[in-house]
Amino acid sequence: AYGFREVESAATKQGLVDGVFHKVASRYDLMNDLMSGGLHRAWKNAMVAWLNPSPKPGWRSLDVAGGTGDIAFRIVDASRGEAHVTVLDINGSMLGVGRERAEKRGLSANVDFVEANAEELPFPDNHFDAYTVAFGIRNVPRIDVALSEAYRVLKPGGRFLCLEFSEVDVAGLDKIYEAWSFNAIPRIGQMVTGDGEPYSYLVESIRKFPNQPRFAEMVKRAGFERVSWRDYSGGIAACHSGWKL
Ligand code: SAM
Repeated sequence: AYGFREVESAATKQGLVDGVFHKVASRYDLMNDLMSGGLHRAWKNAMVAWLNPSPKPGWRSLDVAGGTGDIAFRIVDASRGEAHVTVLDINGSMLGVGRERAEKRGLSANVDFVEANAEELPFPDNHFDAYTVAFGIRNVPRIDVALSEAYRVLKPGGRFLCLEFSEVDVAGLDKIYEAWSFNAIPRIGQMVTGDGEPYSYLVESIRKFPNQPRFAEMVKRAGFERVSWRDYSGGIAACHSGWKL
């Protein structure tokens, strides 16, 4: 048993998260579709449209907790094949799936894969034009440390975008969403991967994550300016944006 309710220390939380993603890596993309009813694709498209990556050669972005490459591939496509994206993830199994997908799509020259921790980025200061993280920051034990690292590695003028599950703000939808996440998601997890408990943990982590204005405050505290957010699907997900100026 994971005993996720008792998890306190950063190391324990990270160990738990790693276990979840090692277990589900090969079926991760299928799970995303089943659990979000395909909506995660629309949210990711909206995030990358908001980023509006430059088609300038040499434009460089970092996708943290990038897993199987979903955001990276979209960024390369949106930049008409010019962007370079580094996918960073703490989990070698997820990166392995991403690397295979990049090869199949013929994108190996545009995308590289780095196994590292969002709290300790192995890059120099002022290095990237953009930093993205989708459904990943929630899993990082010390979110404030990850945000400071994001700020550090961005160039002045660089853009920060974070897509994450958030607080539903539509009467009625909140109840439906609660029922879906607490009952359906662990059950789908159980059916596809044979274990529902990791998914109970993920649902719990969504509930604990700060809502839109509170997360915006954290992004500002890390040094970002012009911080704003957009709700997707009534706030089931939200995308926060900030600039290093
Ligand atoms: N961004 C992808 C997407 O949207 O499909 C993957 C999201 S998946 C829900 C979360 C990812 O965060 C996993 O691949 C996991 O390994 C990664 N992760 C968890 N803790 C991390 C950390 N401290 N540093 C970097 N990646 C981490």
